[in-house]
Amino acid sequence: MKLIAGNWKMNKTPSQTREYITKFLELVRDVKNTEILLCPPFTSLCVAGEMLKDSHIKLGAQNCHYEEKGAFTGEISLSMLKELGVSYVIVGHSERRWLFGETDEMINKKVIACLEKGLRPILCVGEKIEDRNAGMTLKVVESQLKLGLSGLEDLAGKIDIAYEPIWAIGTGTPATPEDAQFVHRFIKEFLGDVRVLYGGSVSPKNAKDFLSMPDVDGLLVGTASLDPESFAQIVKASE
Ligand code: 13P
Repeated sequence: MKLIAGNWKMNKTPSQTREYITKFLELVRDVKNTEILLCPPFTSLCVAGEMLKDSHIKLGAQNCHYEEKGAFTGEISLSMLKELGVSYVIVGHSERRWLFGETDEMINKKVIACLEKGLRPILCVGEKIEDRNAGMTLKVVESQLKLGLSGLEDLAGKIDIAYEPIWAIGTGTPATPEDAQFVHRFIKEFLGDVRVLYGGSVSPKNAKDFLSMPDVDGLLVGTASLDPESFAQIVKASE
């Protein structure tokens, strides 16, 4: 089944979350053939978890810490997330890598911790514009996959990958569906049977074009997931 995920990033208070989910549940009530995931900020997970409990919409976190508990001021463990109804975790988003200094080694520990706890990681990979211009896209993606998944085998059905070229995130300039297809194919040849989502300036206008590519198994949507109508349209493009 295709996965359409909304990454709200640092947006929406708990009351705004409540308002959004009330509308969104109604808008996607008839969606049957698509897996839907909302990833609100940590502070909204409790409200979202309660509202989504009996629905077909899954709940995800945008980050996690890999240790179980302890002196890690400001961090959130997987047990804390699990208790709120979280079943997915976005790991290694480019904003975490490049704004907050996450290394491939940290990302690898997070992926391992998620799998051990029975949460499904969505590992994000993607190249900077300089890499792309230098013809290094596949080399960069391969290195992020190798290091991020180091020590792990047999990942089929346990993990999703999101290909998010950094130059396409929040810019209004998405990759072409053909560009995405090319990289997604490579990822599947490298890893075997995993779902690969595309992210970067996805909108209700271009969602179908991406989803019509044979190796685009879903979408990771930022800006356009903040509006319930727009996100519902993107979900429905996958049906
Ligand atoms: P935009 O959809 O705003 O480009 O963000 C994509 C993204 O980073 C999702 O994780």
